[in-house]
Amino acid sequence: MIPRFVRVALPRPVPDLFHYEIPQALAGKVTKGGVIQVPFGKRTMAGVVVDIVESSPVPARKILTLSDLPPVPGPLMDLVTWASGYYLSPPGLLLKMALPPSAASGASPNFTLTTEGKKELERGEDPCLDLLRALSRGPRTSRYLDERHDLDLLEDALSRGLIVPAPPGRRDSKSPPEKAYSRDEKAVTELTPAQKESLGILLTAIREGGFKAFLLHGATGSGKTEVYLRAARALLDAGKRVLFLVPEISLTPLLISRLDRLAPGEVVALHSGMTATARAASFRKMNIGSAKVVVGVRSGVFTPIPDLGLIIVDEEHDPSFRQEDTPSYNARDVAVKRAQLEGIPVILGSATPSFESWHNAASGRYTLLRLPERATPSPDPELVLVDMSDPSLPVPEIPSLSRILLEELEGTLERGEQAILFLNRRGFSPFLLCSKCRQALACPNCSVTFTYHSEKEMICHYCGQKEIPPKICPSCGAGALRPIGAGTRRIEKALAERFPSAVIDRLDRDALNTRGALQKIYRGMDSGITRILVGTQMLSKGHDFPNVTLAGILNAEQALDLPDFRSAERTFQIITQVAGRAGRGPKRGKVIVQTWVPEHYALVNAIEGDYEAFYRTEMVSRKELGYPPFGRLGRILIDGVSEEKVIRAASGLANGYDPQAADARQAEREQAF
Ligand code: ADP
Ligand code: ZN
Repeated sequence: MIPRFVRVALPRPVPDLFHYEIPQALAGKVTKGGVIQVPFGKRTMAGVVVDIVESSPVPARKILTLSDLPPVPGPLMDLVTWASGYYLSPPGLLLKMALPPSAASGASPNFTLTTEGKKELERGEDPCLDLLRALSRGPRTSRYLDERHDLDLLEDALSRGLIVPAPPGRRDSKSPPEKAYSRDEKAVTELTPAQKESLGILLTAIREGGFKAFLLHGATGSGKTEVYLRAARALLDAGKRVLFLVPEISLTPLLISRLDRLAPGEVVALHSGMTATARAASFRKMNIGSAKVVVGVRSGVFTPIPDLGLIIVDEEHDPSFRQEDTPSYNARDVAVKRAQLEGIPVILGSATPSFESWHNAASGRYTLLRLPERATPSPDPELVLVDMSDPSLPVPEIPSLSRILLEELEGTLERGEQAILFLNRRGFSPFLLCSKCRQALACPNCSVTFTYHSEKEMICHYCGQKEIPPKICPSCGAGALRPIGAGTRRIEKALAERFPSAVIDRLDRDALNTRGALQKIYRGMDSGITRILVGTQMLSKGHDFPNVTLAGILNAEQALDLPDFRSAERTFQIITQVAGRAGRGPKRGKVIVQTWVPEHYALVNAIEGDYEAFYRTEMVSRKELGYPPFGRLGRILIDGVSEEKVIRAASGLANGYDPQAADARQAEREQAF
């Protein structure tokens, strides 16, 4: 029997593949991984061929066209199959990330009349006549045709060769790219001994070829990036390409400029902030061969890259590699799996490795490489823990700020240096509290308190609901509402009042809502005009400002309250990352960590800079509770119209859960991992 059908992954939130028939015109042309256009309901859709089969269990419709895009390569198809099983994610939604946006969004191909079609049109009797007439005025997209004509007619006309897909129109964009922020840096001439050793091990693995996973552990400024760049250089020289994954591209402008120097004109970026046209251009550049380095955020892990030779995951601990919405996946782990399927090395790098990766290194699955010291002569910063429960410390006019930090700020400004202040809460204050009944104003949808942003706006950070703050408490109808506690906006304002002659700026999601805002913030810091930068965890990423000598961390324990078994790990990471931003230049930095729980081991170990001590302590409780990396955790979200129904469904699931059977199934899935 000749294979006449295909199983296709379509961008729908379902685990199933769909059957389609290969029309005569495409016989022998459809391959595994091929991108095709198919009818789906009343629409057309782009899909990827997963399998070619001899029969279909259901009546199958015909494939409309085969796209001129190159087929998704075999290892990437295998990767998606693995990821859809491991994460229970719809394969079609994962594959969407492997396609250029035009195909992914289902942008429909153009159709034109063939000579045969023109004849039928002249004869004027064909059942598809209306459709042919529409095309007689020039090519039309399938979407245009769908809306006006029966999709069956389109299929019919195609299969009889009356119409064909037209070659795609060229739509090269020449819009000027946003001017990238960069800074001149001296090239590194001599590697440190630790860098040399790590690079040597990497180069050997690269020469030998094959899959191997590395964990590069080194403090911020220890020269990890320099090691990635040199390893990448070796691959580029051998004619291979490199995939570089970062948590957030816009926050790492200096990395992009360093990569650009490594491979001028051969670096392409892929991230969600890009327009579809820019993304399409990146895909094209990669496929026709001029791009050698692809820098991407998490979805970039699914990018097809011919001759891929190395994958780098920088800041591998960063939670933004994890996508929680459908299709869920963790790009760091997918990267390791991809390297294995492609038979190439992968480097995970961090100053604060995730416990999963450290555990893999400890058990010998990954090779650990260490950079124990800063690569530059900058001395290590001094870290100080400040206990906020000491009643003499709080500064009344600036909520959440201690006298100690205030004095340090004054000194920093006097010396003409700069400071960063980290607070993981945007907005003005986290609650509005009634001065009479003591109720906090909560979002009607989520029962989470509204964050007060300004007199005109309060926002639920959970669902995004926005409202105008009332003046009087809606609960008791009598008390006035007062903002309690501090967010970044309030700290910024209070500092501006306290230091009227200094420029204070803010870096958080709210501050970045205009184009170029980030560049402006960076330039302010780089030029030295901005003296204090207040911000959320965005502060802990990417950029170094050499004149920043003071970092303040407010409410350092805040992340410990999150209902997440990784809350201590996150706390340790954030403190270490923010601390790493102080004293990058020749002057010694100081880091003030303010907290209400100064005895917590996550804070104590962070202050001491002792990652391994922290790991050992935390692992004891993880082991007791069976949390990862000792056990597996999946989140099942049950959504329903009534609480009763939700509880019933949840208990049903819990009662039917057989841990042994689940473990066996999981082991089967991971066999190759
Ligand atoms: P990381 O990625 O670990 O934060 P980087 O590679 O960005 O570290 O290095 C931090 C800074 O030190 C950069 O400005 C870089 O140019 C510089 N640097 C890195 N390696 C060396 C070296 N061997 N000698 C001198 N400077 C170095
Ligand atoms: Zn809400």
